[in-house]
Amino acid sequence: MQNVSEPEFQQAYKELASTLENSSLFQKHPEYKKALKVFSIPERVIQFRVTWEDDKGECQVNNGFRVQYNSVLGPYKGGLRFHPTVNLSILKFLGFEQIFKNALTGLNMGGGKGGADFDPKGKSDNEIRKFCVAFMRELSKHIGADTDVPAGDIGVSPREIGWMFGTYRSERNKWEGVLTGKGGTWGGSLIRPEATGFGLVYYVQHMIQYASGGKESFKGKKVAISGSGNVAQYAALKVIELGGTVVSLSDSKGALFADEFSPEIINKIADLKVNRKQLTEVNDSAYTYKDGVRPWKEVGNVDVALPCATQNEVSEDEAEALVAAGAKFIAEGSNMGCTQEAIDVFEKHRKEKKAEAIWYAPGKAANAGGVAVSGLEMAQNSARIKWTSEEVDEKLKQIMENCFKNCLETAKEYVTPAEGEFPSLVAGANIAGFSKVAAAA
Ligand code: GLU
Repeated sequence: MQNVSEPEFQQAYKELASTLENSSLFQKHPEYKKALKVFSIPERVIQFRVTWEDDKGECQVNNGFRVQYNSVLGPYKGGLRFHPTVNLSILKFLGFEQIFKNALTGLNMGGGKGGADFDPKGKSDNEIRKFCVAFMRELSKHIGADTDVPAGDIGVSPREIGWMFGTYRSERNKWEGVLTGKGGTWGGSLIRPEATGFGLVYYVQHMIQYASGGKESFKGKKVAISGSGNVAQYAALKVIELGGTVVSLSDSKGALFADEFSPEIINKIADLKVNRKQLTEVNDSAYTYKDGVRPWKEVGNVDVALPCATQNEVSEDEAEALVAAGAKFIAEGSNMGCTQEAIDVFEKHRKEKKAEAIWYAPGKAANAGGVAVSGLEMAQNSARIKWTSEEVDEKLKQIMENCFKNCLETAKEYVTPAEGEFPSLVAGANIAGFSKVAAAA
């Protein structure tokens, strides 16, 4: 690694490297040590200027990026994030995680990530459209259906994908599956909007079933969720469908609590988000809004916690609070949702308390459903066909089951859990994802 300050990237790198080093992987495959060093550096980083005109007719400028991290398994694949915090450290951490996440889907996709430090909040629809067009005018020179296939992430929904896809078509005079998360009428896959949230819940379903010896499911479980974007919304809807009770959601300003969230309120929140409004506007007496908090310390006793907002949204203290609240399953819908200190709390508890313990699943495994259905969208675009919702959902379920089993079996093989201890899904995800890429390199 270069000696520059990239805290988020260094956190993601160290988290992966330490689990590989604390397993028997490098004894069995000494050559993989070099692979880790090689994979730590992106194959290519594209950095560019984005100039666009605001509603007052003034010129504005932002930083645009695409990190083409690793193409061993297929075209670079990963989302675009539009958020004021976007910088190279954030995009390198996201791109690095994406390499191994994509490997865990079992599909042939390399890893990449991109975006801009553009803040959609407070901008008009017209300004966002102009930004998307300006951004893609440059990015279109560097991507392609067999080269690099971006999608959405924070701040980039199907609407933004649409504006960028139209720009790509006219800039390159070509219709191809160069972006995923497209609208259904122009090449998008059914279930793509739902995929990250649904996939997360499918993954946790396997954790619950394994931990209870097949006796339990989401039925009767209390579930704390953070975030209120696409991932949180569909995770919440799937939890409710499976008989669980959702007790929180949140946004960047505060959190919303209730004894039981209804599907109607989640749909209302989805509408508010489309209009870039806050959870303060829910205005329903069954729901309590608390300003300036995240759910974890406030939510009370829960069985499952699903961080679905952004990176480092669960601190050490909050992890302790979740342990004290009796949570048994933590799985990230966000990328690197837990700080290293929070992961250490969960992993220590897992080792000490054995079958009574918290079981933690990292985002690179638990939220892989989103990019997995992006991979299915690429397949449909290349074959010029469209699968039904049922077909896509069935494939998503199978991918999440395979991903869970792969993490579990790999952890058993390389870290050997003690009698009665659940295998470490962090180690399993890291070793399984990394080995697949290293073996192919
Ligand atoms: N942004 C999503 C992720 O973090 C999806 C990426 C994609 O579909 O390419 O995995």
